[in-house]
Amino acid sequence: MQINSRRSMVAGNWKMNGDKALVKQMKKQLEKASLENMDAVICPPFPYLGMFTDSIKLGAQNMSQFDSGAHTGEVSVSMLKEVGCSYIIIGHSERREDNFESNEIVAQKVEKALNADLTPILCFGEPEDIRDDGTLFTYIATQLDAVLKQVGIAQFAKIVLAYEPIWAIGTGKTASPEQAQEVHAFVRGHLAKLDSDIAAKIVILYGGSVKGSNAEELFSQADVDGGLIGGASLNPDDFLSICLAANQ
Ligand code: PEP
Repeated sequence: MQINSRRSMVAGNWKMNGDKALVKQMKKQLEKASLENMDAVICPPFPYLGMFTDSIKLGAQNMSQFDSGAHTGEVSVSMLKEVGCSYIIIGHSERREDNFESNEIVAQKVEKALNADLTPILCFGEPEDIRDDGTLFTYIATQLDAVLKQVGIAQFAKIVLAYEPIWAIGTGKTASPEQAQEVHAFVRGHLAKLDSDIAAKIVILYGGSVKGSNAEELFSQADVDGGLIGGASLNPDDFLSICLAANQ
């Protein structure tokens, strides 16, 4: 529920899941839904991007930090634009871990996406041991500062942020609404040291085991503007119920 000027958003990260049948079902589900107060975005695997129509906002799950050339298996930002993407997930913890993407590589990718007018959905968040040892806010500030250093606060304003505590991703262990709110408020406070207007306007999503049953409570927090959804985005009914929670 939005009582501020920020527009709610829900993005579905299919990861390496889904097939042509799911593309068809999701298109049907979203095309008939009335979601006038929020943006619903689907981020399917690369092979399915071209199967969506203009009526659905699309995002990719990864892009190269290079423009073109000898980078086997990589996909460039211009290719993503050509197939209709307007968003790009950058810095997901699975890519940071599986593909050794450092804060610096993440920052380079964000800059490349912004230069091409693609909106980065910049993921950040802590592993459980960092939360337990009390260095959560330093850890998160370091992740965000790497991008701020690369692009500056004015460009940073064009990013959608996604707080994704790693211990909550795909585990069924959702952050409590208070835990999510605490981090989102910290992030706004951190950005406000550079620009209070940008801090107030930037969209911050929560991700980590969001479902139809917990979305409304999470999204009702003052600084939570929607969600980045993994598992539940693979079920069109569940995904729609999360979108409807953000549409209120
Ligand atoms: C994600 O991977 O971005 C995510 C939030 O996954 P899940 O919703 O399955 O926890």
